[in-house]
Amino acid sequence: MLSTILYRSHLSDDVAEITLAELADKANKVNNAFDVTGILLFNGTHFFQLLEGPEDAVNTIYQRICRDARHHNVVELLRDYAPSRRFGNAGMELFDLREYGQATVLQAVLDKGTTKYQLTYDDRALQFLRTFVEARERENYFEIPPADYWDFVVDETATTAECSLPAFGPYHFAFQPVIDPFGRSIVSLEALIRSADGGSSQHYFSQLAREDIYRADLESKKQAFAMAKQLGIHQQTLSVNLLPMSLVVIPEAVDFLLREINANQLVPEQIVVEVTENEVISRLDEFQAAIKQLKAAGISFAINDFGAGFAGLSLLARFQPDRIKIDRNIIRDVHKSGPKQAIVQAIVKCCSALEIAVIAAGVEKAEEWMWLEAAGIFHFQGALFAKATLNAIPPVAWPEQK
Ligand code: C2E
Repeated sequence: MLSTILYRSHLSDDVAEITLAELADKANKVNNAFDVTGILLFNGTHFFQLLEGPEDAVNTIYQRICRDARHHNVVELLRDYAPSRRFGNAGMELFDLREYGQATVLQAVLDKGTTKYQLTYDDRALQFLRTFVEARERENYFEIPPADYWDFVVDETATTAECSLPAFGPYHFAFQPVIDPFGRSIVSLEALIRSADGGSSQHYFSQLAREDIYRADLESKKQAFAMAKQLGIHQQTLSVNLLPMSLVVIPEAVDFLLREINANQLVPEQIVVEVTENEVISRLDEFQAAIKQLKAAGISFAINDFGAGFAGLSLLARFQPDRIKIDRNIIRDVHKSGPKQAIVQAIVKCCSALEIAVIAAGVEKAEEWMWLEAAGIFHFQGALFAKATLNAIPPVAWPEQK
């Protein structure tokens, strides 16, 4: 199957003198051997390349390109399939944009096209090309340093707070901080349910009969609050998770939460209920009533796993939460993916307009964190900084410039 990959990258600073002709010549030889064709644009700082050919061959070439030390911040912009090649004549046609006027370069590129049909209609690849030539998206090219630019150093003076509370039910809780890395502060702590043998939340819920899940979910929060008290969270913000239907099918759910918050000398204003939506909210009016009750009591409301499954834009249109947490699947390798970057930027813009705080969850790589900071996200949760820890609040590994 004919496949297309389009990417953008940044010329490495330590490449002293790059001879573009030599680079294109080498690329031509390799591409010919793989039956890959395309074009390469260079604007003095950035490369923009379109690769076309059999899917496996395009993937192999792209992986080699990603490993090439002569450029960095390689961002995949498009991966698509087409009935025929746009640029089928050469292994790799090179255009140095510094040698052309902006008005003429696009025509020169189009003149190299081999498929009139694709190049005359509103082909996405062609639109990307035009955008690059016109330098229209440059403000969104966040250039991040390599991962080893930072050390992640655990504050030696911060000890792990541990909790010896016996389990009230067949579960435990793990705690994980949400942090502001540059502010060097813990924004909140999240209580994550674990099965009695320390298994994941998913494992815990999978052991329950369907009709017991909602009550078990709600009642487990009694222990989360008690553990938070024993861990000495004081005025720290605490997030707990609830299935939305736990708030709907148990009419006294909010009263239960308030009672347990109070019983543990916590205050509603320091509690955030994260709604973890892995099923459609079928009774939206009742859910809305429960959210009103939560907010009226002073408890904040967050949408979890935003961008995944059901937790999407329509939910945001109806219930503006105090916070949203972007799903781990969007965060993973965001620094390498054009589509994920566009989604995160749209979320940041939308939440900024609505004054909703944004948290990036499941951050594992320094590059993910740096790209997200550049995009305007300041609150992070993930193994890069602190892993969720059973019955304890783990210390944070803070970033320090090497
Ligand atoms: P969440 O609220 O987004 O919680 C973060 C999840 O990501 C946790 O998984 C945490 O262990 C995991 N995580 C944190 N950092 C990283 C990382 O760097 N990499 C990766 N791969 N994972 C990381 P966990 O504890 O399995 O929870 C999964 C989800 O289950 C939670 O997502 C939350 O939506 C839900 N959940 C947890 N506790 C409860 C609960 O008491 N009730 C309900 N209804 N749902 C819960």
